[in-house]
Amino acid sequence: MSLTEAELVQVGTTYLYPNYRQPPLVMSHGRGVELWDKRGRRYLDFIAGIAVNSTGHAHPHVVSAIAGQAARLMQTSNYFFNEPNILLARRLCQQSGMDRALFCNSGTEAIEAGLKLARRYFYNQQQPDRHRIIAFDRSFHGRTMGSLAATGQAAYRDGFGPLSAVTHVPYGDAAAVRAALGPDVAAILVEPVQGEGGVKLPPAGFLAELRAIADSHGCLLMADEIQTGVGRTGTFLAFEHWGVQADIVALAKGLGGGFPIGAMLCKAHLQDTLPPGSHGSTFGGNPLASATAMAVLDVLESERLMEAARTQGEYLGDRLHALTEKYPQLAPEARGVGLLHALELAEGVDVRSLLASLRERGLLLSIAGGSALRFSPALVVQRAELDEAVTILDEALSELSTTAPKP
Ligand SMILES: *Cc1c(COP(=O)(O)O)cnc(C)c1O
Repeated sequence: MSLTEAELVQVGTTYLYPNYRQPPLVMSHGRGVELWDKRGRRYLDFIAGIAVNSTGHAHPHVVSAIAGQAARLMQTSNYFFNEPNILLARRLCQQSGMDRALFCNSGTEAIEAGLKLARRYFYNQQQPDRHRIIAFDRSFHGRTMGSLAATGQAAYRDGFGPLSAVTHVPYGDAAAVRAALGPDVAAILVEPVQGEGGVKLPPAGFLAELRAIADSHGCLLMADEIQTGVGRTGTFLAFEHWGVQADIVALAKGLGGGFPIGAMLCKAHLQDTLPPGSHGSTFGGNPLASATAMAVLDVLESERLMEAARTQGEYLGDRLHALTEKYPQLAPEARGVGLLHALELAEGVDVRSLLASLRERGLLLSIAGGSALRFSPALVVQRAELDEAVTILDEALSELSTTAPKP
């Protein structure tokens, strides 16, 4: 006998570890940008699994790739090659201009692999003390110990120390990076656009300057493209917008379109750094995840989704900008690139209750940077769905402007 939504919520709140704060509903199924809960209520999903469901929910090509591969071979371990993984490695390297791919199962693992690669690179050169990382305030790199050390937000870090040596400097401040340099610095780790930190774009020339600093200091430049990569910002990697190439690139989120997979890509000079046995993952590069990612990349190409991310993203940006002009007291700023946008809310706006009110009206959004609404819909989102989302937002802000005390 199946449980009702209310019963499931009751069981979930009894047995699940309470480290999240889900609303009392249970998601059931989705199609494209639409998502339905157990009671049949429909939502426009502008969270998309946190910038993950790049091809939308239940894309037929992705679904059939998963079903076909699951029926053939799901897992072999890395004792053996498997065909989907070999083909995926080649495709990712060719798309990104990188030379080697190492696979894992999540974003934080891709960062860990990059951090270990950087340390081992200098260790192999008889510089074992060269292990410090420079990262940025308000950055997010994941929640395992190394990635957590690199994450520049106290809310994620507090209570989990001691963490390894990372120096955090203000995002966008190249002079602060220079001041933080020293003989022990192994790598600079940066998100081309800070995602969790509030969709913060880099100042012009910043990423190129980081590249120049890394080159002159002889340290590595590591790009966290977990949220921004695989077409999300309108190019395969967001770094391409600024014409910069990193030595190490971390991918995850959008790569599997909803299926867990991560990848660490690197340039050729790092390919002999990790000898056999020094790093690995039981599930990393498994045939099922690899075939899924291949299907996602197929759809990205056949449906021209990077181009769509640019054109639809520009339209969304214009509509959000118009809302800032209509409600300057509530939503003073809109920013973003491709299909990753934020609407900054004024101090005093209760973000959580606004989120709940949007959800009740049928629009799912997430919070980024504590005070901004984040928009990261599937790259297959249509103009009409963008319009519907903005209309819902307009209604919710309108209600807020008539009921909330002016800040
Ligand atoms: C989500 C995210 C991570 C962590 O990925 P997980 O799969 O949750 O481990 C790391 N960096 C960035 C920029 C992210 O957005």
